[in-house]
Amino acid sequence: MLIIDGKKVSLYLKNELKATIESCKASTGKVPGLTIIIVGQDPASQGYVRNKAKTCKEIGMNSTLIEMPAETTQELLLDTIHELNNDPAVHGILVQEPLPEHIDEFTVTLAIDPSKDVDGFHPENLGCLVMGHLDKCFVSCTPSGILELLDRYKIETKGKHCVVVGRSNIVGKPMANLMLQKLDAANCTVTICHSATENISFYTKQADILIVAVGHARFITADMVKPGVVVIDVGNNRIEDPAAKSGYRMVGDVDFDCVSALASAMTPVPGGVGPMTIAMLMKNTLQSFKRFNGL
Ligand code: NAP
Repeated sequence: MLIIDGKKVSLYLKNELKATIESCKASTGKVPGLTIIIVGQDPASQGYVRNKAKTCKEIGMNSTLIEMPAETTQELLLDTIHELNNDPAVHGILVQEPLPEHIDEFTVTLAIDPSKDVDGFHPENLGCLVMGHLDKCFVSCTPSGILELLDRYKIETKGKHCVVVGRSNIVGKPMANLMLQKLDAANCTVTICHSATENISFYTKQADILIVAVGHARFITADMVKPGVVVIDVGNNRIEDPAAKSGYRMVGDVDFDCVSALASAMTPVPGGVGPMTIAMLMKNTLQSFKRFNGL
């Protein structure tokens, strides 16, 4: 069974991005800039934004972290976003979710200039993805990272049946739409499953490529897949583990030990999809910088 190693691929990718940023700097005197806004003190979100800022630094990109208190009004957050929309040194704007309950996430997404929406969540970017104008949009980072993995591992996708489990706006829906596109690492026949799908195994067993983003630890078991399937596990679930120093460990949405005995290729958790998501955020920000500078 082939392990699809997202950690390794993300390192290659980050080195490629670093080299491109250095050459952009040499020719223009400028580097890409990503601004991350975090509202409140959610520890998991704080960890994610720290990681993103650290990766920017590693590859020579500017990053600015704007930390706002949990009681920040929606109006102030929107004003901050509008200022960043007009700042030429900012090429990417990311508002870390979840936001406090009094702030409407969709209103915030709509406020970000689509040309700086490096998360790819704005309806204009999602719409361009659906219509196949990938050169004109930002594709959200987890789905585009998965496509990059399928591409780099030369997984045969054309005409294959791809089953996506999960229909969130940030993973499932863009993922399914991406696998449908006439692209080298896609061009699939696509089925989407969700919590109202009846007899989900009926669909998952037909998958040549199974992409799972449900948020339930080890949801997909060996009896739900066919031999030879390629499995992409997006899940990131914390489970108790008394043997671990921290008292917990991360597992995916797929039961790795059992399913890997049947699969032909599979991403591990951790070290599969996760590292690719951050790398693609960097790639999108560089892409934005290039567009703004006509490169
Ligand atoms: P989400 O917004 O909670 O969406 C989960 C999706 O799974 C929903 O569409 C839901 O269906 C579906 N679902 C839930 N229970 C189901 C069931 N019993 N049967 C079939 N479908 C079911 O989650 P998300 O943001 O897409 O994230 C999913 C997982 O991926 C989480 O573990 C998250 O931590 C992880 N994640 C990882 C990365 C990464 O970079 N590695 C990035 C993003 C997310 P309904 O729509 O019907 O409710």
